[in-house]
Amino acid sequence: MKHDDLHDILTPNRLRGLWRLMRGYRLIYIAASFSLGISALSRTGTYLLLQKLIDDVIPNTPTSGTLLLFGLAFVGLAVVTGGFTFISGNLAARTAEGLARRLRNTLFDHIQHLPFRYHDATPTGELIERCTSDVDALRTFFADQVINAGQIVVLFSVNIAAIIILSPTLALRSVLIIPLLVGISFFFFRRISIIYEAYQEQEAVLSTTLQENLSGVRVVKAFARQDFEIQKFEQENWEKYQRGRKLILMHALFWPSSDILSSFQMIVGLGIAALMTINTELSLGSYVAYAGMILWIIWPMRNLGRLIVQMSSGIVSFGRVKDVIKESREQMTVGIEPPVENLHGEIRFKNVSFAYESGTEVLHGIDLVCPAGKSVALLGTTGSGKTTLVNLLPRFYDYTSGSLTLDGIELKEYSKEFLRRNIGIVEQEPFLFSRTIRENITHGVGREVSEDEIIASAKAAAIHETILSFPQGYETLVGERGVTLSGGQKQRVAIARTLLKDPRILILDDSTSSVDMLTELEIRAALERLMIGRTSFVIAHRIQSVMNADQIVVMENGKIVQRGSHTDLIQESGIYREIHQMQTVIESALEEELSDVRS
Ligand code: ADP
Repeated sequence: MKHDDLHDILTPNRLRGLWRLMRGYRLIYIAASFSLGISALSRTGTYLLLQKLIDDVIPNTPTSGTLLLFGLAFVGLAVVTGGFTFISGNLAARTAEGLARRLRNTLFDHIQHLPFRYHDATPTGELIERCTSDVDALRTFFADQVINAGQIVVLFSVNIAAIIILSPTLALRSVLIIPLLVGISFFFFRRISIIYEAYQEQEAVLSTTLQENLSGVRVVKAFARQDFEIQKFEQENWEKYQRGRKLILMHALFWPSSDILSSFQMIVGLGIAALMTINTELSLGSYVAYAGMILWIIWPMRNLGRLIVQMSSGIVSFGRVKDVIKESREQMTVGIEPPVENLHGEIRFKNVSFAYESGTEVLHGIDLVCPAGKSVALLGTTGSGKTTLVNLLPRFYDYTSGSLTLDGIELKEYSKEFLRRNIGIVEQEPFLFSRTIRENITHGVGREVSEDEIIASAKAAAIHETILSFPQGYETLVGERGVTLSGGQKQRVAIARTLLKDPRILILDDSTSSVDMLTELEIRAALERLMIGRTSFVIAHRIQSVMNADQIVVMENGKIVQRGSHTDLIQESGIYREIHQMQTVIESALEEELSDVRS
């Protein structure tokens, strides 16, 4: 997304959004600004006191008592100035951290509720970037810029008011550069916003590249693609470097311009004040007070420019965060939730079609009935639509036309939460969290489970013995900081998890290709135990695992091309018989080789 216009960046919506975001923290910000006001007042008071001392007290040979009193007043004002500056900084930092924490939590919570479609279209690195770097830019925005805005208004108003009291003409001549400064600042604001957004986008590309490479490190190494990946990373990094350089160049151009203008204003102000003092239009005390106070109107003016420019990062980052937040969440709880005891699990597809993107249908007119407690095995080449078909059941995606019912009620009428609670999924490569094995088994079960239940399900999944062989048993950590489980072991942990969840409907991907024969038999037995009495959809990769299914469905290009039992299908000419013959040939060849090796 490129912004060609300032209005795209500084939209009223974004500003309103930022204001809404500060809900609950606004009072603290007001307190912070109030503290700043007090500190500004006492600092200006110091200069006015100085004026009094020089103009009225010193010429009249004051007593040492009077001087001591002035001394104490100066110390008192210094303490008040310092104390309240500290209080305001502290309040601002606390609220900025609080806001960033809230924003991070909101974002995380929101991302957890975004639909599959959103995740399909959004690279992970992009989301990571928005949760980290963009939130951080907003934290700085609230810690520095928002409080700076208050500081600028308070310091400027207090000091300019004091200067007006000294001399209105001088006050006018002290703020000549404001229009120029604001103009330049907005010019840079626009430039920097555009470049900063491009920079953040590139940083997200880099994060995605890094994240994909780290997750897919095995594939990269297996295909010896390191050089290619390194080159690709370097290219993206080069692009980030270029954009970073542009960003720094813009800042580097802005600062000197604003500094030169501010210094110019200070010299002009001091010069005019000096001339006025010589011409006796201004007293000596007033000149000294002015010399102090001009710093505190130059400072806000200079910081106004800085604020405008730095706000660009905060506002752009806010826009990026808001883009995520405004995505609609999946409505998990809308819909009916019949009592689980009444759920039978009969699934009926009637002329169901589905398209991920409108116009490109992936499933065409699916008709399929799976009676409660029975099993359907789906067979077909890669890309034939097996995964897409089963993904309609938990409503990861909603079918585009036709009718899909569970126990006679249209699937879209059930709440997603209900469906997902009652559908268990064992994926081909289950994802395990970097937590203990126990936590992985009980993950998502949604109820208190006893130790006995956990052990029983692990036993039924044929993983109990393996778990006990680890020194820390069920408390063993999985993942980088713990044990690395094999594909087959992960699958059995997932089976144990699903057994514990005890769903009415099952979706299984029975790929057991990465395991040895014995493990395969164990997994198959565990899967069969899992399937007893549940409506099951099995994505099958091998003939052996479909033979026991109540119904076999062969898919091709998003259509069902054959259906029936193993004995029926073996009689028909078609894909099923071809696959069967091919796998039988391969397996008998394998058997022969094995017996050769054994003999
Ligand atoms: P199978 O499980 O039989 O290998 P899939 O259901 O994964 O097949 O894929 C069916 C078709 O849908 C393929 O053409 C695939 O490219 C497409 N497809 C799968 N997932 C998505 C997605 N998230 N977005 C767009 N198209 C997809």
